[in-house]
This record gives sequence, C-alpha cells and structure tokens, in this order.
Amino acid sequence: MEKSRQLEQIKQRITDELFDDLRKNSTNMVFGKGNADASIMFIGEAPGEQEDKQGIPFVGAAGRELDKLLRMIGLTLEDVYIANILKYRPPNNRNPQVDEIKAHTPYLVEQIKIIQPAVICTLGNFSTKFVLAKFDIDGMQKIQGISKLHGQIEKITINGFTFTVIPLYHPAAMLYKPPLRAVLEEDIKAVGAFLGRPKLPDEPSLKQWM
Ligand code: URA
Repeated sequence: MEKSRQLEQIKQRITDELFDDLRKNSTNMVFGKGNADASIMFIGEAPGEQEDKQGIPFVGAAGRELDKLLRMIGLTLEDVYIANILKYRPPNNRNPQVDEIKAHTPYLVEQIKIIQPAVICTLGNFSTKFVLAKFDIDGMQKIQGISKLHGQIEKITINGFTFTVIPLYHPAAMLYKPPLRAVLEEDIKAVGAFLGRPKLPDEPSLKQWM
C-alpha cells in the first residue's frame, strides 16, 4: 500500500481511539504533512495556535523559520515529512506532559515506521529525548538537553531499523532567543552537509537524489 494511504489509516485511528483533554480543548488534530516518500523527517513538539486552527503542522511563525532554514540547504517544508510529539495543541502552548506523550507518541512511532526516514531531525528537547531514548518515555529523563546535543549526529537502531538522528534547537527558540539563530543556521548546514546538500544544478529531482 502507498505510504500516504498508510498514513491516512493512522490518522483515522487517532480520530477513532484518542480521546483526551488535549483533544477536548483543541480545534483540530495536527497529524503531519509533507512528502511521505522523503528520506528526511522532522519531529517537532506540539501544535501551536495556527496549527490548531488549520490542522497542519508548522504553519505559524516557527514553520516559516524552519522553511527558511531548509531553503539554506536547497529544501523546503514540502520536501520533508514533518510531525509532532503531540497531535493536539496543549493549552497556552504549555509543555507536553508525560501522560500525553505516552498517549500520543504511539501514533508518531507508526508514522516513523511508515516513512522509514534515513535521517530524523528532532526539534527541541521533547522530540530529541523521545527519539534518543529509543521511544522509551521512561528513559527520556536520562537524555541530555538540546543545548548539549544540538548538531551532534548519531546513528541509532530501534528494533532492527537504523536511522541517523540530528537534534536541532526548535526554530521557535530562536524567535525568543535571537543568538540561537546562528547556532541553528550552523546546525542546518551540518544537516545539509550530511545529506550532500545543496543539490547540484543539473540534479533532476529530489527523489532521485534521495
Ligand atoms: N511547534 C511545533 O513543535 N510544532 C508545530 O506544529 C508548530 C510549532
């Protein structure tokens, strides 16, 4: 079955199965978006106000910043697949809570299994800890913070599936801490270098490159 159809089935499962306070207090589910055949996936934290309104991840200020960063390495948000730890917006954009991470991440893991990305870029503390703890929520507290781990490329294997993790600061962080912009720009260049970006002018299509 096509990956996009498999993703639709996971989205339907959330509609059918996940009933919690986050869902009760939000407008739309924010599942994921982008290229289901991408070999690079980004994982954010949770939908914000705009994402909740539109039901699409990274359509607000953080998304615009992420798109600008991706363009530095010849990509856009449309070229990658992107999803969040939480599928519904937490009130006032507060941090995800453990019970919410437990309830929502099984669907994220399904998304990862379908996409099978070669590279996962985690954005901020929550997704970095979740992925580097190998999806074990109780192990997340043992993982260092993003200020230590950003830009460090690590290969991990979970249940026989190997991918490269590149933790990045969350693009929203540089909006309230401007010096982080230069750090994120350096780190995204490292992602580009890892991928062999920017692409050559005669490169026919992204898919071929991937
Ligand atoms: N921040 C996130 O982590 N995810 C979004 O979808 C939007 C902002």
